[in-house]
Amino acid sequence: NVRGAVLVTGTEVLSGATSDRNGPWISRRLGTLGVEVEGIHQVGDRPEDLLATLEFLRGRGIDLIVTSGGLGPTADDLTAEVVGRFAGRPLRLDEEMERKIEAVLAEFARRFNLDSESLRAGNRKQAMVPEGAVPIDPVGTAPGLVVPAGDQVVIVLPGPPRELQGMWESAIAAAPAREMLARAEPYQELALRMFGVPESELAASLREIGAGTDLSALEITTCLRGGELEVDVRYRDGAEEAAAALRAGLVERHGSFVFSETGQSATEAVVGLLDGRTIAVAESCTSGLLAARLTERPGSSAYFVGGVVAYSNDAKVELLGVPAELIARTGAVSTEVAEAMADGAIECFGADIGVGITGIAGPDGGTQDKPVGYVCISAAARGGERHTRDPVLPGGRADVRERSATAALHLVRN
Ligand code: ATP
Ligand code: MG
Repeated sequence: NVRGAVLVTGTEVLSGATSDRNGPWISRRLGTLGVEVEGIHQVGDRPEDLLATLEFLRGRGIDLIVTSGGLGPTADDLTAEVVGRFAGRPLRLDEEMERKIEAVLAEFARRFNLDSESLRAGNRKQAMVPEGAVPIDPVGTAPGLVVPAGDQVVIVLPGPPRELQGMWESAIAAAPAREMLARAEPYQELALRMFGVPESELAASLREIGAGTDLSALEITTCLRGGELEVDVRYRDGAEEAAAALRAGLVERHGSFVFSETGQSATEAVVGLLDGRTIAVAESCTSGLLAARLTERPGSSAYFVGGVVAYSNDAKVELLGVPAELIARTGAVSTEVAEAMADGAIECFGADIGVGITGIAGPDGGTQDKPVGYVCISAAARGGERHTRDPVLPGGRADVRERSATAALHLVRN
């Protein structure tokens, strides 16, 4: 089996000024390739710390190390040099790489009208490659490296996530990495997504299924995220039957709550069901979060027409045509107001489907009848079906708002 580790460098990440997006991304990719990931390590831009961590990972028998950051032209960018030292491979100027970086910088200078001389100062440094390493073409200006180090391989990638991700495929295809990854046996994966199933019920189901079938070959992770329950299962070849039994058992018990068997999000599930129909939203307590969720995917203008954020009572009346008399009678948070908002969204935008959300996000404003977290959501089809729900959602203000948007997506899906 191939064991891997991620080594994230950068003082800005260590200090908390930047939150690490590379460690989890790389770990996920390595997992998909069948690498057993031992850990994600973080160090600042200090060469002795970087070297010590590389030595530590060697001592732990890690086969494949992926680093992020520290490949830039500035003096604190030292990863290539340190990894070279670790591998016993001195740096040599790679002239082809120097020309490539030169071309990228010239284009950059032309496009942004910059002085190419000052840009070029750090160029030679970035073209220094440990002897025997495979350079990876840059997406920005920093080239990556795949460095054989005895029995180990170190993949060295730049810090900016877009660059790192853009170079990933070339890095794992480079000979030393490819040969090592050929020894990793990819996991098979199963991803179920449910909405409305409490974690305790799922745990009970897992126990029941486990009593009839041996599930020990399956690595089962469950995670409750904003009201959605995620069940991710990884297994090696040979455990297909156990995985199929688990899947069948969960679908049998919770089938009507399962919205994805591929890991697709609620937004994707909704979009799949719209089937050419258009949708518009009217949001009070979520203030645009539902609109944002519906437009996560490129090409969303094909189905999403628009949204109104109507926070005040006047806005609900004037923009969405909610009867003032209704608000006076029920208050701004009621199922009737949510329904009128959904209808208003349909009218306002000429959409096929409208969604209205009004609720009490807190921390203040709750009452005995309508506590903090009480949210009314209505999804209506033009001149047709309507679903309305009024759950009390748990958590603080941010949780209530996020969960309201999630609950609304699931209401539309039904
Ligand atoms: P550059 O040529 O851009 O300097 P580099 O390889 O030297 O590339 P760093 O200097 O470590 O990369 O980081 C550059 C920027 O990339 C950081 O300021 C930060 O915005 C972003 N970045 C770096 N590491 C991470 C990370 N782990 N997660 C998210 N963003 C990161
Ligand atoms: Mg840098």
